[in-house]
Amino acid sequence: MKTVGYAAQSHKTPLAPHAFERRGLHPNDVAIEILYCGVCHSDLHMARNDWGNSKYPLVPGHEIVGRVIETGADVERFSSGDHVAVGCMVDSCQSCDQCHAGEEQYCREGMVMTYGSPDPEMGGVTQGGYSRHVVVREEFVLSMPEGLDLARAAPLLCAGITTYSPMREWNVGPGSRVGVVGMGGLGHMAIKIAAGLGAHVTVISRSAGKEADARELGADAFLISADEAAMKSAAASMDVIIDTVPVKHDVTPYLPLLDIDGTVVIVGQVGPLGEVSGGGLITGRRSVAGSLIGGIAQTQEMLDFCARMNILPECEMIAMDEINAAFDRMERADVRYRFVIDMSTLKDAA
Ligand code: NAP
Ligand code: ZN
Repeated sequence: MKTVGYAAQSHKTPLAPHAFERRGLHPNDVAIEILYCGVCHSDLHMARNDWGNSKYPLVPGHEIVGRVIETGADVERFSSGDHVAVGCMVDSCQSCDQCHAGEEQYCREGMVMTYGSPDPEMGGVTQGGYSRHVVVREEFVLSMPEGLDLARAAPLLCAGITTYSPMREWNVGPGSRVGVVGMGGLGHMAIKIAAGLGAHVTVISRSAGKEADARELGADAFLISADEAAMKSAAASMDVIIDTVPVKHDVTPYLPLLDIDGTVVIVGQVGPLGEVSGGGLITGRRSVAGSLIGGIAQTQEMLDFCARMNILPECEMIAMDEINAAFDRMERADVRYRFVIDMSTLKDAA
C-alpha cells in the first residue's frame, strides 16, 4: 500500500515529507487510516539518534489513533470503520512466557517496535504513526472505548500506559503516596492516573511554573527539586516515585523522599544515570527500578479505565508541518503537555 508520512533522513535533518510503502495485508492484519498521532519525547530521541541505534529513513510516532479501512481474511475483532489505536509495539513472538503473560514488551525474542525495528518484509526499519496509514497485526490493535475523545486520547497509547503500568505493578490505589518527577507528557499523565487510582500525588519539578497546572490536574502537593528545605521536609512521604526525566540525572536526591520499602521507577532516561548512593537505598530498604510501556491487555485496561474515569491528556494540536518546531519546544519542556498531530493536515504529495 502506498502511503506518505514525515521522516528523518538522518540524525541531523529535520523531519520532511516522505513517500513509502506499507506491506500488503496478511490474513491477520488490520489496515488503519491514522487520524491523530501524539508526539513523544522518544520520537525526538530516535529522530536525533540519541540512543545510537536509529536507522533512516525513520518515520516516528507511536501514539496512534485511527479508523480501520481494511481487514485481512482472518481478522475477527475489527471491521472497517472501527475506531482503533496502536501504541509502541506492533509484533512479538507470541509464544514465549512473557508474551503468554501479556507482557509482550518483554518478549524474549524482542518486541517489534512501531517504528525503528528491523522490518524483514519491507526492508529497513518499521515506520511509525507520523503517516497516513499503518498496517498492524490484529493482536496489537487496541479498541477505542466509546466516548473517549479521539484526538485527545492519542497520548494514552504511550504516555498513558508507561505511567499506568508501573502504578499497577506497585499496587497504587487509595492511600498510596505517589511522586512524579518531571511534568511533561508522561509526567502529567502520571498525575492524572495516580489521582484517578485514588493516590495522594506530589509533583517534583524544576521550577514553580507548572504548580498551578499540576494542582489543576489532580496533584495534592508540589516540590521544586532545587528547594533543599522543601525536599527535606517531604522526607519519607512517598511510596512510589515515577521518574520521567528524559536525560542523564542524579536519582539520589529523590531517595530520601521515599518511605521504607519505597521505589523510584525510572521510566524516562534510557541511557546512563548519575551514581546512586548506596546509603539512600540501604537506610530505607529502598529500590530503584525501571519499567517499559505495558502489555497489550494492560493497555486496553488503561484505555477503558481512562474512558470510565474521563481521564484525558492535555493536548496542543498541531499540523504535520509544525512537527520540527514542536520538537524544539518539547526539548525545552515548553509543551502543555503533549503535542498531537492532526493527520488530516498531512498533504498527499510527497
Ligand atoms: P517530555 O514531555 O519532554 O517531559 C519530560 C519532563 O522532564 C519535562 O517536562 C521536564 O519537567 C523534565 N525535564 C526535561 N529536561 C530535564 C532536565 N534536563 N533535567 C531534569 N528534568 C528535565 O518527555 P516525555 O514524552 O514525557 O518522555 C520522557 C522520557 O520518557 C523520554 O526520555 C522518553 O524517551 C521516555 N519514555 C520512556 C518510555 C518507557 O517505556 N519507559 C515510554 C515513553 C517515553 P519539569 O519542567 O517539570 O521539570
Ligand atoms: Zn513514547
